[in-house]
Amino acid sequence: MPLQTSQPVQEDPIAAIATPLGVGALAVIRISGSGVLDIAQGLFRKSGHFDFQLRESKGFTAHFGRVYDRDGLVDEVIALVFRSPNSYTREDMVEFSCHGGPVVVRHMLQALYEAGCRPAEPGEFTRRAFINGRIDLLQAEAIGEMIHARSESAYRTAVNQMQGNLSMKLEQLRQRLLESCAMLELELDFSEEDVEFQSRGELREQLMQLQAEVQKLVDSYQHGRLLSEGVATVIVGKPNAGKSTLLNTLLGEERAIVSHMPGTTRDYIEECFVHEKTMFRLTDTAGLREAAEEIEREGVGRSYKKIGEADLILYMLDLSQPESLKESEVIREFRETYTHAKLIVIANKTDLASDSEERLQQLREETGCDVAGISAKQGEGIDGLLRLMSSMVEGLDKLHDASVLVTSLRHYVSLRNAGDAVRNALELLGAYAGTELIAFELRSALDYVGEITGKVVSEEVLNVIFDRFCVGK
Ligand code: GDP
Repeated sequence: MPLQTSQPVQEDPIAAIATPLGVGALAVIRISGSGVLDIAQGLFRKSGHFDFQLRESKGFTAHFGRVYDRDGLVDEVIALVFRSPNSYTREDMVEFSCHGGPVVVRHMLQALYEAGCRPAEPGEFTRRAFINGRIDLLQAEAIGEMIHARSESAYRTAVNQMQGNLSMKLEQLRQRLLESCAMLELELDFSEEDVEFQSRGELREQLMQLQAEVQKLVDSYQHGRLLSEGVATVIVGKPNAGKSTLLNTLLGEERAIVSHMPGTTRDYIEECFVHEKTMFRLTDTAGLREAAEEIEREGVGRSYKKIGEADLILYMLDLSQPESLKESEVIREFRETYTHAKLIVIANKTDLASDSEERLQQLREETGCDVAGISAKQGEGIDGLLRLMSSMVEGLDKLHDASVLVTSLRHYVSLRNAGDAVRNALELLGAYAGTELIAFELRSALDYVGEITGKVVSEEVLNVIFDRFCVGK
């Protein structure tokens, strides 16, 4: 059942702070829904205009005045009026800019609750914008991603998605699928007469084109994910190699606990940093060794899982330990096991090793990997390491077609399912299967594409998406 409406529906009035809680020059409190202009009117007095009627005010007008509750003056504010359908939610809305203090905000919200608003759920304003057909689901998600973007590229991709480029592309695909599907379904209506409204050759041609386009989008996910989530990077190596120290150096803060005792990084730590527009999502894993304690063993288990999911593995060894050169064997194994990821060997503690250049060369030869010699503690060789990391992902994180890119796992899964359904339809076509079966596959492909933009979507999926938003968005 479609959840979206083309005519805006005004739901019950909601209120929330739209700016971060804390002390600031201003805080914005927004209210949306049926009767909010009356609610605002009940609390607001425009300066110098005793008979001012806020409920009759035009949309996009701002009024300076005061908000009063039962106990008297709450604050001086600007009330900005939006009239349905010209607002973020397409409902009537008022945004109050008040002074930015937690107690002021609490009083403002309290006054609004007493006047008939209820506290908004996370993402409820954007959810209403979606339900009222102002934006599709992809655009709603893009707004969330844009707010949370931590790198330039993540921000750019979200902006593109918010503009609706991917939405448009998917709508085109949907229309074409719909046409083919409608033809087949029409044939079924005339099944007695054995007619073909579209030659099977033509249908085949169309479906093959569709499949190729869906596949292109599916393939773009590899790049899109790196842009929006960052390059999944894990640091592995024996305890005490210096992994936490490097993590701290890269992140520029004391995030991981550095200690002399092997095995202090019991679980894993995940943090992001941006180098030349590329975002790296760094994970420091528990030391790779036979763990004696239960808790640590669990940490080691998770390390292996993280390595399995990584785009880039940084294998660190302690160059000051003579036996570290014996790790070449382990590194080669790593390279052969985790073929999906790029691997860089980091030879740490060059400050303690006298013949480090020779050792680095030996490592290069024995492992066949790129090797970066660094001193994590003294910050030496870090630039070289970063250059190497960037070059490893070059191409992977660059945009092919900046405007149309799949960045979310949800979209990727639906597109893959749509692609599979089209492939099934093609196979059925090749096997001269019944029209009904082919139409069924195309219908499900349509549903999968519709799932992405929100044309066909369950309440449950909406809850998952909007719960990730903050209150007031
Ligand atoms: P982890 O177990 O791999 O996370 O290792 P840590 O980062 O906790 O480091 C273990 C010890 O090695 C600490 O005492 C660090 O100060 C020290 N260390 C780390 N990197 C270097 C380095 O480049 N040079 C020297 N001399 N000591 C280092």
